[in-house]
This record gives sequence, C-alpha cells and structure tokens, in this order.
Amino acid sequence: LLNVKMSAIIALDEKQGNYRAQTSRGLSKDYINKILIDPSDSQSITLRALRDNEPLQISDTETNPAYITRRKRARAEGFRSILVIPLKTLYAPPSALLVFRPDPHVFTDQEINLLSNFANHAAMAIENAVLYARSDMQLQEQTRRLEALIQSLSDGLILEDTGGHVIYANRRVGELADMPTSEIVGSKINKVIERILQKTSDPKNAKQKFQAILNNQDIYGPEISLPFEGRTHWLRLHAFNVNDNHGVPIGRGQLLHDITADRELDRMKSNLISTVSHELRTPLASIKGYATTLLAEDVEWDLDSQHEFLSIISDEADRLSNLVNELLDLSRIEAGNLTVKRQMCNLKDLIDKAAQHAEPAPGERLRVTLPSKLPAVEVDQRRIKVVLRNLIENATKYSGNETPIHISAAVEKNDIIVRVKDEGPGIPDQEQQRIFESFYRVENGLARTASGAGLGLAICQGFIHAHGGQLWLEPSVQGACFAFSLPLKQEKILGKDNANK
Ligand code: ADP
Repeated sequence: LLNVKMSAIIALDEKQGNYRAQTSRGLSKDYINKILIDPSDSQSITLRALRDNEPLQISDTETNPAYITRRKRARAEGFRSILVIPLKTLYAPPSALLVFRPDPHVFTDQEINLLSNFANHAAMAIENAVLYARSDMQLQEQTRRLEALIQSLSDGLILEDTGGHVIYANRRVGELADMPTSEIVGSKINKVIERILQKTSDPKNAKQKFQAILNNQDIYGPEISLPFEGRTHWLRLHAFNVNDNHGVPIGRGQLLHDITADRELDRMKSNLISTVSHELRTPLASIKGYATTLLAEDVEWDLDSQHEFLSIISDEADRLSNLVNELLDLSRIEAGNLTVKRQMCNLKDLIDKAAQHAEPAPGERLRVTLPSKLPAVEVDQRRIKVVLRNLIENATKYSGNETPIHISAAVEKNDIIVRVKDEGPGIPDQEQQRIFESFYRVENGLARTASGAGLGLAICQGFIHAHGGQLWLEPSVQGACFAFSLPLKQEKILGKDNANK
C-alpha cells in the first residue's frame, strides 16, 4: 500500500536503558544491530517523534540536514525516506513503527493515516502481550508465596484426588513419612498414612483406629504420638473435602495437625495440679500433725521433743514457702516481668551461702575450685543464690550418695562461666532439652524418690536469662554438668562510662 520495502518497531529496552529494534522486516542484520539509541540522543528521528507524540518523516535522507550523521548508513542500507509513527501504549515501554522507502518521498496525510491505523493494531498487540506477561508473573509470584507458606507449615498437608492418589504433599508430610515428597505424589494416600503410623509404638492398633478416616467415614482421626526430631510429637488427622470454584469436588485434603503444644499445656496443667496437691499437702500434713501433737492436752512433752517437733514444723513451713516462692517466680518469668536488682558481689560467698541453704545438704561432697583472681559480679544476689542452690540440690539428689560434686568458675571472653558437675547417672540424650521445661521431670527411679516439682531448672533458666546469660548442659563423660554464664559486660559498660567522663 505504501510501497515500503523495509520496516521496524523500535522500543525502549527497559533493562538496557536504550532504544533498539524489537522486530523488523527487510533491514539487514548489521543495520538492526547498530540501532542502539540513547534516550538523550537529540538527533534521533524516532525519539523526536516519541517526544512530540506525532508522526514524523524524512522525505529525503540525502538532503535533510538533521540526517547528516546517519546518511552513510542509509545509503548502505538503501533507503531515502522514512516515516515514524509513535505507538500509543499505556503499559508497554515507549515504541514507534518506522517504515523506509528506497526513493525520496513525501508521505501524504492519507498515507500517514493508513500507517497510523496499522500502528494502532501493533500497539494493541504489544499492550496485550505486556499485560499477559505481567499477570502471568503476578500469578507465578502468588503461587510461589502460597507454596512457601504451605511448605513452612509445622502441620502436614496432603491433597488426594478422587481416586485416593496424592496430588500434593508439603515438606512436613515427607519428614513424617520419611519419604521424599516427589515419591509421595502419585502414591496411594493410605500407603503414606501407613508409613507415618509405622513410627508409632503400636502401628497395628493405630492403623485400626485410622480405618474410619481412611475409608472416608469420618473427618477426625484419633490422636497418635510418634518420635520425631528427637522428641515425641502428637498428631491428629483431619480430613476435609476440597471443591473447585464451582463447588465440584476435586479431592480430599488431609491435615496432619501437630497438637504437641496443646498436649504440653495439658501436661503442665495436670502436673501443676498434682504438684500443688502433693508438694503442698505433704508438708501441710506434717505441720498439722506435729502441731496437733504439741497441742494434745493429755501428753506432757519434754523440752527436747518440743524443740524437735517445732523445728520439723519450721522446716516444713520453709519447704512450703519455697514452693510458693518458686511458683511465684515462675509466673513472673512467664509473664516477662522479672526485675533484677543488681549488686556487686563475690561469687565465692554466693556459692557458700547457696550450699548452706541447700536441702538436701551436699556436706563434704561439695568441692569448690575457683581461680584466685575472680572478678566481682554485678548480679541479683537472691536470684543467683537460688540458681546455685537448685543446681547443688539437683546434683545432691540425683547423683547417688557418696560421689563428689564439683563447682568451678572461669572467665571466658566477657563472661564468668560457673559449672556444677556431679558423677551420677547424668541425663539421657533425649531428655536434655526437656528438663528445662517447667514441671518436667525425667521418668526414672531417682526422680520418683527425690522430692521436686520439676520447676528448678525452668526457674534457673529464667533467672539467668534475666541477667543476660545462658544456662546449659555440657557434654560430660560421666554425670551431669550444668553450666551458666553471667556477662561481665555490666562492668565494662560502667568502665566505659567512666572513661567517657
Ligand atoms: P526437680 O528437681 O524439682 O524435679 P528440676 O527442674 O530442677 O526439677 O529438674 C528437672 C529434672 O531434671 C529432674 O526431675 C531430674 O529428672 C533431672 N535432673 C536435674 N538435675 C539432674 C542431675 N544433676 N542429674 C540427673 N538428673 C537431673
């Protein structure tokens, strides 16, 4: 229609920051490769047309003074006239349609209108492509986010198709079933659930209990417990129908809900009740018993007996008050409003006082080795004494009768590290994390015979954290070795303040 031999669409390449030919016809590769227009190029006819948003033409490249620098290239390529039509786009980068004729030619209004029509079609096509790519990217981004969310769940999530085959499973399912998710997808759902049940202590029984949910007769499965990541986890299976937007069923979802935290809370609640009833009742019973005995009008007690009964009453009252204090401390720690009253003090004194008040008393078993030049620490004396007393009492209670208990301290970097080590049976690997939880006691003979509420270490940890330190169990060949750090930083900060003054 226009007798043009060559054409091109030139557009801004947003990544490179310059204009280049995005598509062309009839022009040589060499010429196309050389079209690299800088956005600040004032000579470029394409940029001038885009800037004015108007068609622009050069009717003769040989005579137009604005084309002088590009004349040689035009000659080599074999064109004499050019018409540029800017493309009207909103979302696509600025672009223009260019046509080239081999002869000098003044493009008429009619020709310009005709080409503008073509340009509009091209603009629409480009705009559609850009919008499509954009929504595709948004969709991909949304899918990626959703995938990350589902993969990070601590619950297992499975989607099965209407034939009972898994079509999606998140990472947790793979971990629970000990199977790569790629293998899970395509497997029968029952096979995957059976793999998980296999880990329970009684797989046959668990499988029987799961029949109803697996046969689609129930939506809630029973609770099961299995060892996972070094501790017992409680899971509950919940099935639900999955429908598409139009309500057509596409399969069934299975949520393996990790209810370990709920179980823990239940355990803590019932432990609290049994502790309160047992640990409070025992001393109360002896207080009541001895007080009643002393008050009995029909017996005259000699002074020694009276003294003995009264000291038992006093000891039992101390035991009660200790327990109540522990419960109060624990609730302060858990509420996060523990205040630390720091005072400069000597660690040796704190150890001595803690050992004196320990019940049972370590007596001769305690061996304290401290470096001669131990810096003073700035701590809440009462709290650190409680920590030391608890660790000494535990070592005394849980390590048999005659073995020594060693306390040592050392300065390591900016901390003082205190270690309380015994030579008893130590703590089994799988219990080492849990003993720091409140109301947790290791289920063995020692814990059963020794009195305690399972609060000591939880309180010690809370107190040490409040001082900015850490409490941990150190690896030890024999016995348990508890260590805690107290930052010496407080002193440093004081020193720095002084230096600044
Ligand atoms: P409690 O001593 O009142 O039971 P703790 O929180 O102090 O509570 O200790 C939790 C559990 O950790 C104890 O019940 C015991 O099973 C175990 N434990 C603590 N210290 C030792 C130790 N030195 N040796 C062996 N077991 C220990």
